[in-house]
Amino acid sequence: MKRTFSNLDRKALIREISQEHYDLVVIGGGITGAGILLDAASRGIKTLLLEKSDFASGTSSKSTKLIHGGLRYLKQLDLALVREVGTERAIVHSMAPHLVIPEKMLLPLVANGTYNKWLTSMGLMVYDFLASVAPDDQRRMLTREETLQKEPLLPRERIKGAGYYAEYRTDDARLTLENIKTALDHGGTAINYLAVTEFQYKEDTIGGLLAKDQVTGEELQIACSYVINATGPWVDDLRTLNKSMNGKELHLSKGVHLVFPGEKFPVRQSVYFDAPDGRMIFAIPRDRVTYVGTTDTTYQDNKDRVTTNIDDASYLINAVNSMFPDITLKMEDIVSSWAGLRPLIHEKGKSPSELSRKDEIFVSDSGLISIAGGKLTGYRKMAERAVDKVAERLKKHQDRTTSPCSTHTITLCGGPWLKGNEEVNSYIAQLTEILRCDGLDTDDARYLVHTYGKQADKIIGRYQKLIDGHPEERLLRAEFAFCTENEMILDPLDFFIRRTGRLYFRIESVASHTEVILSDYADTFNASQQEVALLRDRIREVVREHSNFANSIR
Ligand code: FAD
Repeated sequence: MKRTFSNLDRKALIREISQEHYDLVVIGGGITGAGILLDAASRGIKTLLLEKSDFASGTSSKSTKLIHGGLRYLKQLDLALVREVGTERAIVHSMAPHLVIPEKMLLPLVANGTYNKWLTSMGLMVYDFLASVAPDDQRRMLTREETLQKEPLLPRERIKGAGYYAEYRTDDARLTLENIKTALDHGGTAINYLAVTEFQYKEDTIGGLLAKDQVTGEELQIACSYVINATGPWVDDLRTLNKSMNGKELHLSKGVHLVFPGEKFPVRQSVYFDAPDGRMIFAIPRDRVTYVGTTDTTYQDNKDRVTTNIDDASYLINAVNSMFPDITLKMEDIVSSWAGLRPLIHEKGKSPSELSRKDEIFVSDSGLISIAGGKLTGYRKMAERAVDKVAERLKKHQDRTTSPCSTHTITLCGGPWLKGNEEVNSYIAQLTEILRCDGLDTDDARYLVHTYGKQADKIIGRYQKLIDGHPEERLLRAEFAFCTENEMILDPLDFFIRRTGRLYFRIESVASHTEVILSDYADTFNASQQEVALLRDRIREVVREHSNFANSIR
């Protein structure tokens, strides 16, 4: 029988975890850990993933949300990395075309800009070649007039032309979650809110760990043969716990994004533009908002509470206002924001922007396999390299042969889509027809499909059974029920932030639907009035922190 992926069954799952012996435990439920779980489980390796908070609550919900090739790595002449991430884009898109969506990028060329015409043209051509970009998606160089037609907000007098090329946008947290859910179909196990606190050793080699249930405070012992530390910004904390903090170390770099209402910053399409200091910034329209990012500054503070400060916000606002002369964004215009940490590998004398984004694997004397660095885009290859290390050890220690990596052939939950984009678009049209009868529209259908893929069928089925309330509210309640039963939420904020991205992209819907979701939460999880009151305060605080930026920083 297929196991549910719901915290309603948490007790049974915890009991099971404490009784089993796993070939492999993966610590960290960001995209790196999620990719490793899927890779290992699909090779027949019995694997458990442990996440101390919610899945994707670290960096993997705070990225620019692009599955992109590395133009900047080309500038650093890191051709192997350009080839790998460039090729990976199309593979990750094919695994989940509803979630990894083609997005054309405009790179405007301005006098004294970071990229001149020659570098951009040659760069994009090399990039197309290295990454085997499909002919339809290959780069074009645009004239000044063509550029201004694509994006009339650009400064007419400074624009010389543009590079126009293909990337993909995604929802990082959902990509993480769908990898985890797909891994469950291959026999993997995953649980959130369970923090690893100690390693256990058999003759100096790791043979298990202790983990603390963040809900009950209970400590449990987990038996396993191998452990991968995929904790992103926390990698060195786990290496310290393992007493193996030698050699290379992490350099954490903070990156911030700001969200503005579409009407305040109405770019027609995604733009990768020069900031006054020569760094490059993305402006990406999404639903009814435009988000802008990112910064890149060394960070040494609390990893569990990374926030946007006034310098971050001023820097990004200034970058937009400098490039787009008709736009005068102000602090008060910010409707949401997020801040995350890049777990980069330290190189002496280099600033965060200069540090390589390459991943590396460190193996300690006691067998802890730690993977650090890397990108969302390259997660599948990172997972392959990490699981190869486990496969080598299974062969050496237990004479077990496992199959090679096959994740490039696996369709993530939400599919399958035999006809790719075409089928995704016709499914959106089909859902629009259903929702239109109730006054909802294509935006709602598109949101559902890009968020859940074909799992939206289950949400619509539930929606149609709900009778009371406004259609928008009924749809949200149906989503909440789906996520409760199938996506392991434990807290309404898991739903509002990482399952639906609403805190960032539709923040007004969080405030307006808090009560109805709290009521469904209380019914489903049997929560007391006191618990609900605490949750209500926390949701309000989080919404205030994100939406009332101008006031909260004064
Ligand atoms: P995380 O997502 O941080 O996951 C680590 C997890 O480990 C966390 O959830 C944490 O709670 C858990 N953990 C820690 N300690 C324990 C413990 N003791 N027990 C159990 N669990 C534990 N890449 C791209 O390809 N495209 C982009 O557009 C892009 N934009 C970016 C923009 C910014 C601002 C930043 C910061 C990064 C960006 N990246 C991008 C890089 C990408 O987001 C990261 O490389 C990736 O998300 C890192 O994932 P991770 O799983 O390694 O780390």
